[in-house]
Amino acid sequence: MYKNLTELVSHLSEKTLFILDIDSSLVLTHPRNETILRLFAQSIKATRPDLSLLLAQAKCHPFEYGYFAALERYAPGLDESTTEDIRQYWKTHFFSNQFLHCDLPHEGAIEFVNLLKQKNFPFVYLTGRPSNLMRPGTLQTLQDFGFPVSDEILHMKPSETYVDESFKADILNQLIAGYDNVIFIDNEPRVLNLVTQLHPQVNLVFVDTCHSPNVTAPASAVKIKNFSEFNSLLRSVIS
Ligand SMILES: [Mg+2]
Repeated sequence: MYKNLTELVSHLSEKTLFILDIDSSLVLTHPRNETILRLFAQSIKATRPDLSLLLAQAKCHPFEYGYFAALERYAPGLDESTTEDIRQYWKTHFFSNQFLHCDLPHEGAIEFVNLLKQKNFPFVYLTGRPSNLMRPGTLQTLQDFGFPVSDEILHMKPSETYVDESFKADILNQLIAGYDNVIFIDNEPRVLNLVTQLHPQVNLVFVDTCHSPNVTAPASAVKIKNFSEFNSLLRSVIS
């Protein structure tokens, strides 16, 4: 494990594999959440006009996990059955191809992946997005945003029911074979904790954007807020 980014970058070679998470690492998803909440508002216009009016103005902020904080701000104290309706509506729309273009590339992320490509560092995307529901949209939007992508380097969850951290830890054996050094970049402590437990040789980078509640990233992970510093260090690497 490296102490900081400078040390990490000084150990890079063409036998280093970068493994890149997408949601809340390379792209921020708050605009996708906001779009879905507002669509839900439209869908209940006739049946729940008061709630519809409240949620039609909902704003989701960067670095908030999911849509829960927005819901609390705009429509606090909802009953259980309405909360469940919103959850179902959100799930169907969030895990689909339809709204991925709403995401916002995270600061420095597009340049970061392009630098990896320019400097000939191998990289793959490893995402908890389920392949059956989100593959075409993921390929299309990554390309539209300007991330270098192809079918072979996009690894997605084969089914929705596979738990994210299990999927990522399970597929790692396959991905890292033949590499001397692996840099694993993710925003979710649940993932980072399982990866480091099962693959202690993998070097972790924790993207501190937002994550599930009541979990902490391993202390050994190098923590970044965005990709700016990474980019300055990578630019000076001789390719
Ligand atoms: Mg993520």
